[in-house]
Amino acid sequence: MIFKQLFDSVSSTYTYVISSGIGREALIIDPVLEKTDDYIKILTELDLKLVKVIDTHLHADHISGLRELQKRTKCLIIMGEQTKSEVVNLKIKDNEKVKIDKIELKSLYTPGHTDDSYSFLMNDRVFTGDTLLIKGTGRTDFQNGNPYDQYNSLFNRLLKLDDQILIFPAHDYKGEKFSSIGEEKKSNPRLQVNSAKEYAQIMNNLNLDSPKQMDVAIPANLKGMTC
Ligand code: FE
Repeated sequence: MIFKQLFDSVSSTYTYVISSGIGREALIIDPVLEKTDDYIKILTELDLKLVKVIDTHLHADHISGLRELQKRTKCLIIMGEQTKSEVVNLKIKDNEKVKIDKIELKSLYTPGHTDDSYSFLMNDRVFTGDTLLIKGTGRTDFQNGNPYDQYNSLFNRLLKLDDQILIFPAHDYKGEKFSSIGEEKKSNPRLQVNSAKEYAQIMNNLNLDSPKQMDVAIPANLKGMTC
């Protein structure tokens, strides 16, 4: 399998380039617009054809590369059915399969960070978007975020996966690259709660500043900005 985890240091976003390596089809999760040239270079070097791109949710902290990648490769843009993005070709529901050559991802609807947040399970790993981060969870204070929904997505969906399943998030701010369900159950401070109410109290008292690019990124991602 070909699996590349790329990092955008401006927004601390992780992007994933995936291919079976047997077939030549590739898929990208959570691309960042400014990094499009890097993705195209990798695809070219590995002789891969990008066929699908996914955003785990409508991002508020960076401009998505979905539309530019489609312009350059004619790939299909996929997001969850709840998204308000106007550039999506295929809207998926909970528990759907996204396939490329010899690879299958299962969608898990995991709202809470936003109401259009999805995670994607692929064999031994899960792409958790901003629902479950390493030693953290995604904020729930804008874009129809809801800490009770997120509690449900965490405790009744993601944490029900096997402890060995690896977690690959959409962001990390401390240089961590991946974790596992078991590790996060043990040591993620946000998960050491006894009820949804207790979780909501933590999330409702974070008092975070808005993301720097928010006023630009949300409208751009709804319409699909290109270079
Ligand atoms: Fe986010």
